[in-house]
Amino acid sequence: MADQEKPLPVALRTRREVVIDALSTHFANDALDVEEFEQRLDSVHRATSVAELDDLLLPQLGPGVTEVKVTSVMGGIGGRLRHTDSHGRWRALATLRVHWVAGLATAALTLGPPVAACSQQDVWRLDVSGPVTYFIAEGSAEAGSREGDRTLAQWALEAWGRQAEPPLDMVPGPEASATIRVYWVPAGAGLYGEMRARRVEGRLAADVFVHPDTDGLGLDIAERARLDPLFRDAVVYLTCVHELGHAFGLPHTSAFADIMYSFQYGGDFVAYFMRFREKLEAWDDIQRASPFSTADGGTFRSLYR
Ligand SMILES: [Zn+2]
Repeated sequence: MADQEKPLPVALRTRREVVIDALSTHFANDALDVEEFEQRLDSVHRATSVAELDDLLLPQLGPGVTEVKVTSVMGGIGGRLRHTDSHGRWRALATLRVHWVAGLATAALTLGPPVAACSQQDVWRLDVSGPVTYFIAEGSAEAGSREGDRTLAQWALEAWGRQAEPPLDMVPGPEASATIRVYWVPAGAGLYGEMRARRVEGRLAADVFVHPDTDGLGLDIAERARLDPLFRDAVVYLTCVHELGHAFGLPHTSAFADIMYSFQYGGDFVAYFMRFREKLEAWDDIQRASPFSTADGGTFRSLYR
């Protein structure tokens, strides 16, 4: 038989994606600086064995680190990314980082479905041995909040809770110690929402940031939302559900039917929200209509049974 070029083994390709994903998480968490991050990415692409790839990973982050990971942003790539400082104030990330995050997301698309940030190494799962405490911040005019948005966030939490059998027990808690916190923030160039992980009193916890101003979400969404307040509320509600899904540990999917679908896969975003909007005749219906696919519920139950 003639010599033929060996194709890259599947295991190596898969591991490469996992390592790229882990490195981008470390970078997002400031565990790697830009230079170190670039060098490691280069090495990832040159590596010819799984062992070589694994050598490029960082050791697990120690207990002193409070922000353990940043997951997925729902919305367009290339938007302004922001994070909070230790006092919870928003500040913009450096331009370079935004550029790199955007570049990585694009790279992930060309590699195939991105691997969830923690799917291989550790499973993100909130402690549900007792009631899950939550805190939903007051809305603000600056963020574009409307009356009822806090109720939408609460309904979104409860909707997830009902996916477990028996339903998860969730109770309001103080801002300082609540396991899940929801904040309303001004729109950022096409971003719908964001989830940031943290630790509180030694347990995993999550902050969800929702952009309730639909004017910042592109013309199609903005125009329809202006004409149809229920459509606007559907967008805000589904954003809450999606980001809270991340808070509970659900990764993105590539299935348009799922609430955990990533917009990075493209598609008709108006249609995505309209299929829920069409279930509504009145505002109260939001609480009753299901935002989930069968797969969403299944994934949730696999984490919380
Ligand atoms: Zn997401």
